[in-house]
Order: sequence, then structure tokens, then C-alpha cells
Amino acid sequence: MHHTSLIATIVAGLGLAFVFGAIANRLKLPVLVGYLLAGVLVGPFTPGYVADQELAPQLAEIGVILLMFGVGLHFSLKDLMAVKNIAIPGAVVQIGAATVMGLGLAVALGWSVGAGVVFGLALSVASTVVLLRALQERRLIETGRGKIAVGWLIVEDLAMVLALVLLPALSGVLGGEAPATQGATAFLGGGVMAAFAITIGKVVAFVAFMLIVGRRVIPWVLHRIAHTGSRELFRLAVLAIALGVAFGSAALFGVSFALGAFFAGMIMAESELSQQAANETLPLRDAFAVLFFVSIGMLFDPMVLIREPLSVLAALAIIVVGKSIAALVIVLAFRRPMSTALTISVSLAQIGEFSFILAGLGVSLKLLPEDGRDLVLAGAILSILLNPLLFAWLDRILPGMIAKERAAAGEEPAITAAAQPHALLIGYGRVGKAVAEGLKGKTPLVVIEDDVERADDLRKAGFETVSGNAVKPEVLLKAGLDKATHLFVAVPNPFEAARIIEQARAANPGCEIVARAYTDADVVLLKQTGATHALIGEEEIAKGMLARAPKKKPAASSGHH
Ligand code: AMP
Repeated sequence: MHHTSLIATIVAGLGLAFVFGAIANRLKLPVLVGYLLAGVLVGPFTPGYVADQELAPQLAEIGVILLMFGVGLHFSLKDLMAVKNIAIPGAVVQIGAATVMGLGLAVALGWSVGAGVVFGLALSVASTVVLLRALQERRLIETGRGKIAVGWLIVEDLAMVLALVLLPALSGVLGGEAPATQGATAFLGGGVMAAFAITIGKVVAFVAFMLIVGRRVIPWVLHRIAHTGSRELFRLAVLAIALGVAFGSAALFGVSFALGAFFAGMIMAESELSQQAANETLPLRDAFAVLFFVSIGMLFDPMVLIREPLSVLAALAIIVVGKSIAALVIVLAFRRPMSTALTISVSLAQIGEFSFILAGLGVSLKLLPEDGRDLVLAGAILSILLNPLLFAWLDRILPGMIAKERAAAGEEPAITAAAQPHALLIGYGRVGKAVAEGLKGKTPLVVIEDDVERADDLRKAGFETVSGNAVKPEVLLKAGLDKATHLFVAVPNPFEAARIIEQARAANPGCEIVARAYTDADVVLLKQTGATHALIGEEEIAKGMLARAPKKKPAASSGHH
């Protein structure tokens, strides 16, 4: 089967991930539990088929690249700069705290100080994939909290690039094996400083190269290709740039694949084609992200849970509790609200790919005992399993907490229009924004918007705004549903729209309800639940075109007299 090991690995990985993901979903567990389990099954520690252990992590790396590229597409240099004041100290202090705790556990287990440092570092850095997937699922990436978390992740990523380079240079000092190549430069004692300077220099050169050359070339290429009108070529261009820049920057500048991909995305984000570029990579990104979890599962030896349960628990406590407390303290020290602090803590309360690389390097330098790597792996898998549960808990407590924080800060004033006849608009996106502008000054208006940041924009623009999901009765109540004369449902999801309309009809039979639809089936559903009108975007575009068509029939010039 050697010649087909790549195919076998992909098929087994995706196939089993699908089966176990579906089962997990059925049991109301997070799907990634299923993916990890699929990985354990095709891994070397369980009987039966064993997938290729060299190929699986490489496939996973493609997932990391595409994910980071996608995040870059939603980021600008300005965003990155805006969060640096909290992300840099935050990441540094958190890494420091985790390393000290890891060192403590290592010493307690009777390992060397060098082992402790590697172990602690490995426990300190969160997994890109786990963090981004959690944020993306909740549409948090583009919120203030999400941006801090991503900035924090980038700083950690940079710190790990440094750690991976410096570790071999420092290995001798820490009591490990100094690699032979390093011996020649180390005799001056300048090896460490030199390695440090070279690494920093390469990162700076990489960033400068991307900002000066990449920034001109990449958007140019993309525009040229977009003008060819070939969707296939455009898709290919996006993929080629994402993968090419990631690989090239790793090969030339020694930065991680993830960092290279992030910069490629960030530069593309300045082009107006970025949204389209993001959409083109979605299906591949999701498929490879699944393989990421499978490949982690493959590394896991379940026996370690029986062999060293207490050490595993201690490592897990450092990752989930220790790191979270450190992050919480720092974010609060920067006077950010508790909701932000909790989101960041939970996002980072796990470890993944970088930790394995670091632990693997530690073992190969004879710094870290094999046991250490097993603990890192067990800690990673358990913390990744716990993470969705922590997020589910956050989803429950956060909305109330944010509402209270805003009320305390005087940011959510009473809605005066709600008590009189008014128009009620739900959703302030592409559709809702235009509706709000059109209604301004003509009628008392209340807007409901789910996205916290967008709701802030609305208030700044002078609209009376309720923030929250309009599916919830209390949100509708606050917006004065019973007094509304007109209800405009401008949310994209027709099922949510139907649930909103149902409540509106029950509370307010006389209200004129206009809803947003995509298909004829939506129109039927929305009208059945009580909408007065349901509009399909494409039909309205056609009407708009016809409204601009020639008014009179041109004089006929043919025919006989
Ligand atoms: P667009 O598709 O660009 O018109 O954006 C839709 C807008 O509606 C976004 O700003 C969403 O945050 C908002 N939205 C979507 N669902 C809801 C909901 N159930 N309640 C309130 N706002 C929503």
C-alpha cells in the first residue's frame, strides 16, 4: 500500500472523521470530539489500520495555513497595531506564567531545569486551529475581543518561532545535547546571541519584504486575474498565493507557515477582492482543518491516562486553569471588561500544534524526557476536548454580562421610541443599513442588531438601538414590538426570520411585516408565519433594472404604410 499512502491517509482521515463527527453530533457533543477519536483509531496506539504518521501532520499544516490566511483576510495592519498594547504584554506575561508553572511541575516530577523550561513553554502556547475555529463559529473574529485574541495568538506564534530557533543554541547551557552544527559557533559563547539576532533579523526582513514588495505584487496579480473573468483561475490564484507565500516565507525567512499565511491574507485584505478570495478557500480550509484534529488524535496514546493520571491532571490544570487566570488578570489590569477577559482566557485555554513541535524538539535534544512529551500530548488532547464546553458555558453567561456592563457604563440608554407607534428594523447589515438611512427622520425608529460592535455604530449614528438576537422574546419586548406599526425583518437567515415573525404576529396582529427572502420556498414559509410581504433580492434587482429601462416603446420603423 506504500504508493497510495497519501490517498489512504486522506480517505481514512476524512471518512472516519465524518462517521465519528456525525455520531458526536448525534450525541450533542462537539464534532471535533469525533475527529479526535477518528485520529486515535487510525493512530499507532490502537490496533488496526495505521495512517501514515509523516503525512498526517503535513496535511494538518495545510489546514493551519488556510485558516491563518483566512484570518489575515479579515485583518488590517491597523487592527494589529490597535491591539498591540494589550496583546504583547498579555502574551509575554502569559507565556512567562505558564513556563514557571510548567517548571514547577517538572521539578516536582524530578526532571532537570532545562526539561522544565521546554515543558513549560510547550504548555504556554495555544493552538491556532482550535482558537480560530471557536472564534469563527461564533462570529467573534471581527469583534474587539476577537481581535485582541488573534493579536495575542500572533505574538505567541512569534515567540514560538524564536523559541524553536533558540532552543538548539541554548541546549548545551540547559543541560541537553548541543547539536553538532552549533558547536562551531558556540565556542565564542556568542552562539545564542547570534542565533537570536539572526532570527529577529529574518522576521524583520520578512515583514519588510511583505509590506514593500508583497503589498504591490499580490493585489496586482489578483486584479489581473479577476479581469480575465475566469473563476477557476481566480480560485487558483488565491490558493497559489496563500500556500506559496506561506511556504516561501518559511523556507526563506524561517518564520512559521502560519505567520507567512497570515501576512499573505492581511495584504490581500487591502484589495476589494478579499471577500471573494476568502470564500474561495472555505471548502478546502474546512476539510484540512478536520485533518488537523485527526492528526492530533493519531499522536495520542490513551494508556498515558492510566500510567500517570495525576501528572496529566496537573498539566491540564496548568493549561486550563493556570493560563486562564494569568490571562484574566492581565486583561483586567488593562481595564478591559470582564466579558473580554473571559473570552480571551477561554480562547487560549488549550494547546496544540506548536506544543508538539516544541516537545518533539526537546526530546530530540535530550532536554525533555519522553514522559514530558506524552504529558504535553495528553494535556493538548484533553484541553482541546474541554474547550468547546468552556465556550458553551461562555455562550450562556456572556450575553447577560455584556448587557450589564453596558448598562453600568451608561451605554445602553432606555429606548424612548418603543413606547409610541414606531417602525422596528431587525438587522443592520447590507440591507438593514440602507433601510435605516431611508427611514431616518421620517418615522420613530427602533433597530435590533445582534452584533455588539455594529450596535455601537448604530448608536453613534443616532439610532435607538437594542442589541441582542431578535429571536429572543425579551429583546423584541424591549424594542416595543407590541407598539410597532411596521416591522422590517432584514436578517439573512429565513428560519430566524420566521421565528421573529411568529412572535410579532402573536403580539401585534395589525403590524405591517416586510421580510427578506432568497427563494420561493422562503416566501411561502415567511408568509405562512405572518409576513405581509416577503421580498426576494433577485426579483427586486430586476424591478430596479426595469425602473431604469426606456419608458416608451421606441417608434416602430418597420412594417408597411
Ligand atoms: P447582511 O446580511 O449584510 O444584511 O447583515 C445582516 C445583519 O443582521 C448583521 O449585522 C447581523 O448581525 C444581523 N442579524 C442577523 N441575525 C440577527 C438576529 N437574529 N437578530 C438581530 N440581528 C441579526
